[in-house]
Amino acid sequence: MSEIKSKIPQGALADKWTTYKSTQNLVNPANKRKLDIIVIGTGLAGASAAASLGELGFNVKIFCYQDSPRRAHSIAAQGGINAAKNYQNDGDSVYRLFYDTIKGGDYRAREANVHRLAEVSNAIIDQCVAQGVPFAREYGGLLDNRSFGGAQVSRTFYARGQTGQQLLLGAYRALNRQINAGTVEMHNRDEMLELVIVDGKARGIISRNLITGEIEKHFGHAVVLASGGYGNVFYLSTNAMGSNTSAAWQVYKKGAYFGNPCFTQIHPTCIPVHGDYQSKLTLMSESLRNDGRIWVPKKKEDAEAIRKGLLKPTAIKEEDRDYYLERRYPAFGNLVPRDVASRAAKERCDAGFGVGSTGLAVYLDFATSINRLGKKVIEERYGNLFQMYEKIVDENPYETPMMIYPAVHYTMGGIWVDYELQTSIPGLFAIGEANFSDHGANRLGASALMQGLGDGYFVLPYTIQNYLSADIRTPRISTDSPAFSEAEKSAKDRIQKLMSIRGKHSVDSFHKRLGKIMWDKVGMARTKQSCTEAVAEIKVLREEFWKDVRVTGTPDELNPELEKALRVADFIELGELMARDALHREESCGGHFREEFQTEEGEALRNDGDFMYVAAWEYKGENQEPVLNKEVLEYENIKVAQRNYK
Ligand SMILES: Cc1cc2nc3c(=O)[nH]c(=O)nc-3n(C[C@H](O)[C@H](O)[C@H](O)COP(=O)(O)OP(=O)(O)OC[C@H]3O[C@@H](n4cnc5c(N)ncnc54)[C@H](O)[C@@H]3O)c2cc1C
Repeated sequence: MSEIKSKIPQGALADKWTTYKSTQNLVNPANKRKLDIIVIGTGLAGASAAASLGELGFNVKIFCYQDSPRRAHSIAAQGGINAAKNYQNDGDSVYRLFYDTIKGGDYRAREANVHRLAEVSNAIIDQCVAQGVPFAREYGGLLDNRSFGGAQVSRTFYARGQTGQQLLLGAYRALNRQINAGTVEMHNRDEMLELVIVDGKARGIISRNLITGEIEKHFGHAVVLASGGYGNVFYLSTNAMGSNTSAAWQVYKKGAYFGNPCFTQIHPTCIPVHGDYQSKLTLMSESLRNDGRIWVPKKKEDAEAIRKGLLKPTAIKEEDRDYYLERRYPAFGNLVPRDVASRAAKERCDAGFGVGSTGLAVYLDFATSINRLGKKVIEERYGNLFQMYEKIVDENPYETPMMIYPAVHYTMGGIWVDYELQTSIPGLFAIGEANFSDHGANRLGASALMQGLGDGYFVLPYTIQNYLSADIRTPRISTDSPAFSEAEKSAKDRIQKLMSIRGKHSVDSFHKRLGKIMWDKVGMARTKQSCTEAVAEIKVLREEFWKDVRVTGTPDELNPELEKALRVADFIELGELMARDALHREESCGGHFREEFQTEEGEALRNDGDFMYVAAWEYKGENQEPVLNKEVLEYENIKVAQRNYK
């Protein structure tokens, strides 16, 4: 087991970040110009980091696999971004945002990081407003807020149902300014395949030009991973189809620890799965839970009649409806955190009260709010989401309740980082959803955008300097040096191996099979048995993949099948690690629900005595068991308790 150094600064919680910033080492302007930084990813995390580092004067190279930085998956974010501005005067504060986030994460996040996140949250809003992000405003002109799960205040800033898009346009503008100024070099359609390590430090990457297939070598004094989350390991998820784990998985295989890989977020309000040939799930934003009420029929016979198409939901009388979240959690009602809401939906459907043709759906009903506020107000708040729902389901949600069911949405796990957002490989940093970060075992809604932009605009630009200040005498390393050649050969060999299999089954068929194992055995509910089976089944799948996958085309051209094959190969290996992690964690916490560990009321039952730690997995080589390192979590400012939303 290796020692874990989380580098949390000494001192009072509220002073740690200020003290760090005042005492860290800086790089002077003349030296910044001599230092190169590689950023992988142009989502909110990567774009904000690259723009900030460019503005500071570093030389930045930034990569994405899309045809434009502004197509990063962040663009899909709908509901909003949290900040502790307390504009509503409803009792919010930095401490309350910090507290809600730690509690929401079921006490599995690092106090110091989360407090820092809450501290920088307000600056993010100021920054975005200055960039012209069109946040919703109230009649008087002030920025408007709405509520998200796990909070009793309204602290979520939003731009209709397109918050991610508007924030990304802001970050993209800042990035473009730097591209124009020559401090940032943009590499679209260029996918990182390997990390290059020289003398124990991250010094560059090997990438593939997705248009020509050319393998490229790039040097950087430091490398920043902002490559997003890995929810697509489940095949069906709300993530963009391209979202993948490969950058994170490849650095794990080079020595970066993987933190809490099994912590996955299943979002309660998604459009239910409707067939075997579906490849994507659609989120209905959590913001809808501000005005939508969740229910199922109280009587099984009503539920059955609805499933058979004999009864319409609007025909169910008020007294025959079970608003089960309001019943079980009166204090938070429909705005309980996502893990709690998802499990409650599953519980009702498993008990036979589910609706829709499959019985795996519950209602999200706006009738009460439309009566109270009028259709126009609801339309103003959620118009584009209602339109999206109607396009997909062909039902008008103003007239009949939406049907929703939980789906994979976000990964709290990711590359382990210390307080400085540095991984266990010196010079390699990870930000945004790619790191294991601040959300513990369950992320609160509207906190991912906050974290991605917080990391990129306000944290990394400081902490990376502390590292680079010791590197100012390091000259640029030639990409003809042996470390680059070795990494290049390894990437080329992997591609060659995949192309030469010429098997019988498509890449997608393997991905789909992996997704089924993951959802059935490492999904919303897990057991010792299911996780053990998953490890064994994924091993078999992996062997089959490498014997029987068929990758069409050639490597020297635009080849989406090859891109997918490289990604699915990594998903398969990650899936196994997730199952192992879920197997070893003999407790339930947040999104990790082991059926053996629950309270009498069916709530997650933590085991703080044995599992109050971050599981930081260390790669030990092919077919070797990974090593579990533990970062023990210490709570000095928050009283750890059983989560209660009643
Ligand atoms: C439908 C949906 C709605 C959401 N709504 C909200 C919300 O309202 N509020 C909220 O807080 N959160 C929301 N989230 C979560 C949030 O959107 C994401 O967590 C966040 O945007 C991730 O940002 P990121 O910058 O870390 O990564 P991403 O935006 O995923 O960007 C990843 C970048 O990395 C690049 N990349 C990846 N691998 C490579 C590689 N190997 N080589 C080169 N480039 C690579 C990609 O090209 C891309 O540019 C939502 C998520 C979904 C799925």
